[in-house]
Amino acid sequence: MTQSVFFFGDGRAEGTREWKDLLGGKGANLAEMTNLGIPVPPGFTISCPMCDAYLRDGKAPDGLREEVERAIGRLETVSGRRLGDPTNPLLVSVRSGARVSMPGMMETILNLGLNDETVAGLAKLSGNPRFAWDSYRRFLQMYGDVVLHAPSHHFEALLAAKRMVAGVKTDAEVPVELLQALVVEYKALVRSHVGQQLPMDPREQLWGAVEAVWRSWMIKRAVDYRRQYNIPEAPGTAVNIVAMVFGNLGTDSGTGVAFTRDPSTGAKRFYGEFLVNAQGEDVVAGIRTPLPIDQMAASFPAPHEELMRVQATLEQHFRDMQDLEFTVERGKLFLLQTRTGKRTVGAAVRIARDMVAEGMISKSEAVHRVQPQQLDQLLHPVIDSTGHTAIATGLPASPGAASGVAVFDADVAEARARKGDKVILVREETTPDDFHGILAARAVLTARGGMTSHAAVVARGMGKCAVVGCTAIKVDATHRVLTAGETEVREGDWLTLDGATGNVYVGDIPTQPSEVMRVMLGELPLDNAPVFQAYNDILAWADEARRLKVRANADTPHDAQQARRFGAEGIGLCRTEHMFFEGDRISAMREMIVAHDEPGRRRALAKLLPMQRTDFEGIFEAMDGLPVTIRLLDPPLHEFLPHGGGEEAKILARTLGMTRQELTHIIDGLRETNPMLGHRGCRLGITYPEITEMQARAIFEAAANVTKRGVVVHPEVMVPLVATHREFTHQKAIIARVAAEVAQETGVEVAYLTGTMIELPRAALTADEVAGAGAQFFSFGTNDLTQTTLGLSRDDAGRFVPFYVEQGVFPNDPFQVLDVDGVGKLITMAVRAGRAARPTLKVGICGEHGGEPRSIAFCHAEGLDYVSCSPFRVPIARLAAAHAALD
Ligand code: PEP
Ligand code: MG
Repeated sequence: MTQSVFFFGDGRAEGTREWKDLLGGKGANLAEMTNLGIPVPPGFTISCPMCDAYLRDGKAPDGLREEVERAIGRLETVSGRRLGDPTNPLLVSVRSGARVSMPGMMETILNLGLNDETVAGLAKLSGNPRFAWDSYRRFLQMYGDVVLHAPSHHFEALLAAKRMVAGVKTDAEVPVELLQALVVEYKALVRSHVGQQLPMDPREQLWGAVEAVWRSWMIKRAVDYRRQYNIPEAPGTAVNIVAMVFGNLGTDSGTGVAFTRDPSTGAKRFYGEFLVNAQGEDVVAGIRTPLPIDQMAASFPAPHEELMRVQATLEQHFRDMQDLEFTVERGKLFLLQTRTGKRTVGAAVRIARDMVAEGMISKSEAVHRVQPQQLDQLLHPVIDSTGHTAIATGLPASPGAASGVAVFDADVAEARARKGDKVILVREETTPDDFHGILAARAVLTARGGMTSHAAVVARGMGKCAVVGCTAIKVDATHRVLTAGETEVREGDWLTLDGATGNVYVGDIPTQPSEVMRVMLGELPLDNAPVFQAYNDILAWADEARRLKVRANADTPHDAQQARRFGAEGIGLCRTEHMFFEGDRISAMREMIVAHDEPGRRRALAKLLPMQRTDFEGIFEAMDGLPVTIRLLDPPLHEFLPHGGGEEAKILARTLGMTRQELTHIIDGLRETNPMLGHRGCRLGITYPEITEMQARAIFEAAANVTKRGVVVHPEVMVPLVATHREFTHQKAIIARVAAEVAQETGVEVAYLTGTMIELPRAALTADEVAGAGAQFFSFGTNDLTQTTLGLSRDDAGRFVPFYVEQGVFPNDPFQVLDVDGVGKLITMAVRAGRAARPTLKVGICGEHGGEPRSIAFCHAEGLDYVSCSPFRVPIARLAAAHAALD
């Protein structure tokens, strides 16, 4: 039979730190510490797979009881005490410990082994009856709550009553007689609530506790935690049974937690807290204020000195910042746990960088120590939400935090922002019509829509905070009010959004730009920015390690500059339609759309041309020397038209010299049942070639102009939503003709590429034909490719995809994390076929997945040349690409 119980104690352990899969993190590290000669109380670990087996079969696996019996025997020998011995009782703690640490998520039982007889033995051994009875009542309380599910507040109420009777404020002052009475009351409480006696037999207690720990693997908070951090279900948690040591035996005892470095700043200093005469739970419960660890030196000089030695040894040995739990029992130090310490991202970059400087880890290890997603927190403004309760939580679509007054339409957002108000745009969902409102707002909140909905994509592109798909709120735009449960927020009331968590708060919670941003904006000198320096070093090392290039999705010169500061190596997607929404451009655009004939359209396009050209010049300048991919017009035209028959439509009709009826007729004629699959993408440029002509002209004229100014340009013209190679051929011919015309007119020959987005399954399936037709690059538009492969509308998915994910039907939201098994197959196929037809084919991705670490790993493995993502995700992508290369 394979071994399932592993012993440690007396300087030797059956296991090492490498055995995490079997022993869980805590068990493996207890074994490691024991082997290192660090003082650890003896004990044993029941392996993780036993939890899996118990949850599957509903009972402890055969043979396990015998193994545990043998381990108890060894523990009794090593400790010199016996379980249930009335004169010399062995007491143990029973604690969970999964492979990946899940702090506070599962159950713990302390002081197990106490009963009506052994409590007397403990009183005698300790010479302290009050301590013994207090330990006993604590045990009954924990056991009654965790194992037998008696309501914990009833225990609390009985304890509070005793404090009242004694006329004291704290539990520590309740006298022994009252504790003895409390024990009787606790037992009665359990009997009446669960119809069962609290077990007095220590072995029965032990199995009850072990099974409770196993079951706690499936309690809601543990399941949610695993989902949040992608921790697999199997193989469950290990159970650690360890001889108790007591920090509450008097003023020569105590307990504490400590970190080998400061977990919030990353500074190299031993950092922690210590409580004299207390048990571990007292530190957590926060009833008494612990002392800073440095003060331990005065009252506990010898244990403190040893602790300093041990922490240095542990950090050197594990080569990472450690989080320690320790107890001093009558002047003797015991380590109860060591694990890799959780830290803020600022601390993560500093510690990783410092450890390289100290020669403790390599540069690539340092790169690995920082999680790409975490970097977000370094770039966006931060709020301090302690003491505030969220009124609702939506999808954290675009990180950052912002406060402002709630407004319910884009015009009001713009008007109030112009007056200097800070506004938060609240909408049921946004459309391109709301663009100016999003631009004016500090953050966006929508009740509908998923992670690739309009609001999400646009806000992320702007690096602006957004919470979308917040189904718990009701938005009544007519009456200008949002409701979340009992709470009502009216126009002008303050809201704060946290885009990192999706939390929505009422009120103005202060925010500030992060240190890294302040340095990048030139507001903070480098010398005062230790986090920025570390961040910069880590990213420089990531750049050395990665193969994938990282570009940005940016639509304006400002975004392009921003992207470059973040380290973008070009632009992978410039969505030209975003340029049409600003100011008077929308009128020219509308004029073009409603024109009766080609000459009318050309007249309107002529107005748009100089505006586009200026934008392209700005972008080319910002990206001097780097490639810039510009996509031709993509969205359905009616998105640009005013909706409903309001004031805007009236003005438009007047401007265009039409009657309202004529305009309404045209608008109605453009309406589509399914616009996402309708008249959009290259279908526009094919039916109205003059649009492609105008855009190509704007690109090449801009390129020629900046070339004359000494800027080095590499334009890449991209055709959207191609289904067949014939569409591409059609558009390429126009682009080539205009390029030649402009070269002739300006005398500047600009080298450029023409390529296409792959965002329809048919394009992926016929990628050889598309490349054969002259596409020099492919860029996977995985937002649309996901939509069309799964037959899942990107604008409606938010309604039910979260439910799918919760139920495990989808492993992730496919609009956030690339569906490698489905969409990924099409990508693999298209890359191979495309490169077979054209070996020099450049391949990238520009859907939202281009900034998502797991999707980036896939792109690396598939041999793509670059990923492209919104500017704020560029650092994340640089780091994720390095992780992919180093894995
Ligand atoms: C895509 O479809 O992935 C893409 C980048 O284009 P858009 O999001 O503009 O449709
Ligand atoms: Mg698309």
